[in-house]
Parts: sequence; C-alpha cells; structure tokens
Amino acid sequence: MRALTLVADRKLELVDLASPAAPAAGEVQIAVKAVALNHLDLWGYRGMAFAKRKMPVVVGVEAAGEIAAVGSGTSGLRPGEPVVMYGALTCGTCKACREGRDNLCENVAGIMGFHVDGFARDLVNIPARLVIPVPAGVKLGDAACAPIAFATVQHMLFDNAKLESGESVLVHAGGSGIGTVAIKMAKAIGCTVITTVGDDAKAEKAKELGADHVINYRTDRFEGAVRKLTGKKGVDVVFEHVGAETFNGSLLCLKRGGRLVTCGATSGPSTTINLMQLFQQQYRIIGSFGASMRNIRESLAKMASGLLPVIDTEVPLADFERGLERLESRRVFGKIIVTF
Ligand SMILES: [Zn+2]
Repeated sequence: MRALTLVADRKLELVDLASPAAPAAGEVQIAVKAVALNHLDLWGYRGMAFAKRKMPVVVGVEAAGEIAAVGSGTSGLRPGEPVVMYGALTCGTCKACREGRDNLCENVAGIMGFHVDGFARDLVNIPARLVIPVPAGVKLGDAACAPIAFATVQHMLFDNAKLESGESVLVHAGGSGIGTVAIKMAKAIGCTVITTVGDDAKAEKAKELGADHVINYRTDRFEGAVRKLTGKKGVDVVFEHVGAETFNGSLLCLKRGGRLVTCGATSGPSTTINLMQLFQQQYRIIGSFGASMRNIRESLAKMASGLLPVIDTEVPLADFERGLERLESRRVFGKIIVTF
C-alpha cells in the first residue's frame, strides 16, 4: 500500500509499505479516503527539536475513510461504513477518558501523524473506540475536517469560551482553516463576528461566510478597529491562534469579564501580559488543545445540517508537500484536502 512518510525535516517520501494485518480484537481497518491538512502537519514537517518521535513516520493527522474490515468485538461498525478517526491514541481507561475529556487523557501514547504513524496511507488499523461514523449525506472530503478543524473550534468556542447567542466574537485569521470554521459556527448561533485577514480578497470571502466586520490587519490596527466597532466596549470572546503578534492586542479587544480562548501560536510562543489588566478587567484566558470524541460527533452533526467546511484546494496524495507549502505561505482560504 502507499504511505507518505516524513524521513527528515522537510523531506517527505511516498513509499510502498506492507498492508496491515487483519484487524485484531477491538480494532477496525480503515481505507483512508481523504486527509485534511492542519498547522500541526506543518510543525511536524518543519521539525520540532523537542518532539519525541522516531522517523520515518507516516504523516497525516486528520482524515476520513471507509471501514475495510472489522475485528472481533466491534459491534455496531460494518465494512463500507464512512467514518472519521480520533487522532490521538488515548488509553480509554483513565479518569479523563472515562469522563469524556479525551484530550486530557493521562496516558496518551501520541498524536497520529505527528508522534506516531498517521493517516496518509491506504490502510490503517485503529481501536474501534476511536472511530466515529459519518452521518448520511456528508462527503468524506468534508468529514475529514471534523476531527481537528471542526472539533477544535467546537471545543474552543462552546466548551471553553461558553460562547452564547447574541454575543460578539473576534476571530483571528478568518481565512485560516479554523478561522473559517469559527466564523461559520459563531454566525450559526447568532453572534456578531469580527474577523481579521491579511488581504482584501480574503476580506471579501470572509464577508461571504457571514462575518459582520472584516479588518485587514496589514492596513489597520485590529485593536483600534475592534474598539471602534464595539463603541469602546470590546468583544465578549476572542478566538486566538496567532500568538505573539496579536496576543496583547487581543486582550485589549476584550470587554470587562471577557474570555480569550487560544489554541495556537503560529507567529511565536512567548509574550508578556499586564497582570493588573488581567485581574482588574476580570479576563479569562483559556488554553485549548484538541477536542473530545463528543466534539467530533457534534461537528459531524453540524455538517449534516449544512454547516460545511470551506475547501481551499484538493490535491492528490503525491502533492501533499505542495499542500503544505500553500498552507505555510498563508495563501490559503479554508482547508486543504488530500484525496486518495
Ligand atoms: Zn486516558
């Protein structure tokens, strides 16, 4: 079978690997049909000195496929069924896992496609408990965006920031994979959405997604624009993932008692914050990473009701690297899908 492996920093190789054995008890075998690209793929591709992993490693952190075979003790799943997979090898037995807080598993054995072999291959065996059926009518290319892009945003906005109908939210990088999802999810419950983009073409597209106000952060200071748009009050929630370049400005955009939720630091990991401002304004700063199995089900349900991902490009498996370059260049609007 085909498998796309990372053999060294910034070096991918499409290789022919032996197909996996028949699935063991409690496992299913998935025929992968679509992989969606994320910044996590980029971090892995560029190399992270402190990441514990061995190369070569099969890439691909987020995917959808069809069940090819089922092991014993996997009732409820049948060959041919469309599914998505939870991409972290959780233990399934610790307190966090038992309580459905999968992304806080105490014994996680790694993120697939980053620490351990991932989904960019024709066939993969995986524990059946990490597999989630795709509802009828949802295309696999769209479903591939559920486990990370959709579920991460679902977890950030609703579990963590407790975003409610009628509130205002600032979504950074509205053209990014998760930015496009955040705009759509917030608009779907009746929020006022302000978003930032890096060029005017993206501004038009963000408006088409429903954003109420779009700020070009290259020509306008977003902090000032948000304060002006909200009559100096600020927003209820800031959706952060840009990091060093924007974090302090993001805090200035919050209303008293506002919530900032962050899942990334693409522009750099460190900043200083004013603690007086933090407690006097009663801000809540919430870190968020990954999502729960429940969040993936919620995401697929939203897709089934018509809230679909914005697809920037589709590329074949052999062009995975071209997809990563497009993601890295920030020319992207929405998600890049790798098809099989
Ligand atoms: Zn666990």
